[in-house]
Amino acid sequence: MAAKKPFIKVQCSVCKKTNYFTKKSKVTAEKKLELKKFCSACRKHTLHKESKR
Ligand SMILES: [Zn+2]
Repeated sequence: MAAKKPFIKVQCSVCKKTNYFTKKSKVTAEKKLELKKFCSACRKHTLHKESKR
């Protein structure tokens, strides 16, 4: 199994801007991430979700 880098994008659910990157461990990989983060585009805290490619 190839060693993939567990980097994921964290995307604002309001404006779809990718604001954060985070690493994912194998433990958390099965869950969908939902984070309340500050979005510079929305200028407020919004719900951010992981965005896979
Ligand atoms: Zn936003």
